[in-house]
Amino acid sequence: MMLRPRPWITALEPYVPGTPADDPTGALASNESSLPPSPNVRGAVEAALATANRYPDPLADDLRLRLANGFEADPSQILVGNGSDELIYLLVTAYAAAGGAVAIADPPYRLHEVAARALGASVCRVPLRRWTHDLPALAEQDVDLCFVCNPHNPSGTTLPRTAIEAMLDDSRSGLVVVDEAYVEFADDPREVSALPLAVAGRLVVLRTFSKIHGLAGLRLGYMVGPVGVIDTLRRIRPPFSVNALAQAAAAAAVGDGARVEAVRAHTSSARARVRDLFGAHGYETVPSQANFVLVLCPGDERALVDALSAGGVRVRPGSALGAPGTVRVTVPSDDGLRLLGESLARYRP
Ligand SMILES: *Cc1c(COP(=O)(O)O)cnc(C)c1O
Repeated sequence: MMLRPRPWITALEPYVPGTPADDPTGALASNESSLPPSPNVRGAVEAALATANRYPDPLADDLRLRLANGFEADPSQILVGNGSDELIYLLVTAYAAAGGAVAIADPPYRLHEVAARALGASVCRVPLRRWTHDLPALAEQDVDLCFVCNPHNPSGTTLPRTAIEAMLDDSRSGLVVVDEAYVEFADDPREVSALPLAVAGRLVVLRTFSKIHGLAGLRLGYMVGPVGVIDTLRRIRPPFSVNALAQAAAAAAVGDGARVEAVRAHTSSARARVRDLFGAHGYETVPSQANFVLVLCPGDERALVDALSAGGVRVRPGSALGAPGTVRVTVPSDDGLRLLGESLARYRP
């Protein structure tokens, strides 16, 4: 038989990651943490290596219990994945694949769209309004899954939980999924996070160890949501997708609240300095609650990306994120801030 990809797959392009920097100090294209993970991670990973001949715990019970205690949730309301990206694929597989429909923002977080297209779901894009989700328009979408990204990537804007709760009351979609990859960086995460709604079983919240915990390389995300949704996803998930080293690392990171606080504090002050730097060079920026800043540079995107790159700083061109005329800059370390300042100072548009 002729071998052909499914027809909806032919139109897809492979994912293009942010360009790596020669020196990690200038790696500001992928919203990774510019700071290393908790020092407790190393010992935990080394200890887990001793039993690496065994398969990992499929549901990561130790980690689930720690997370559940912190959220005052039941462990049955939590599911781990190989990054939250895997959980996005599982949600689309279970609820929208092969002819279902997904609503996303425009511009979206890329993976929300890619998962839907890869699995044969149709996609309704709802444009942002002043860089913020248009919740009334999203609520009107008659879809299986509605993705809300809060804080939003690539803009960095947030919605208060009260707005999401109001949207939920009006929503026509089967399930609302709130992607909170950056919520720990918000000035007041408790005002922003929809976690209480997830614990009440009304929607799904996605979280990750890739950002505030600095574990992007180990791949661990989790969701909190209705037990029925989690039971459904357990039927289709690859049982061992979250490896034992990642589970050990995440448990150690969760236990180090002081480290999380330090990363939050650094990000908050460095984020303000990134905005000041670009502001001093005449660029407008979107007020961000995440670990990145969207810089508005209409007509200047390519030149700005190239000029920063010449100085050793890699940022993400907005065109690659569905937001042409912008660049997205990850909040750097203190050394990275200096490098960014020097690269910008040398640029004369
Ligand atoms: C970075 C990011 C994630 C994290 O994905 P992982 O697979 O957990 O690394 C999820 N959602 C958004 C919006 C992100 O920007």
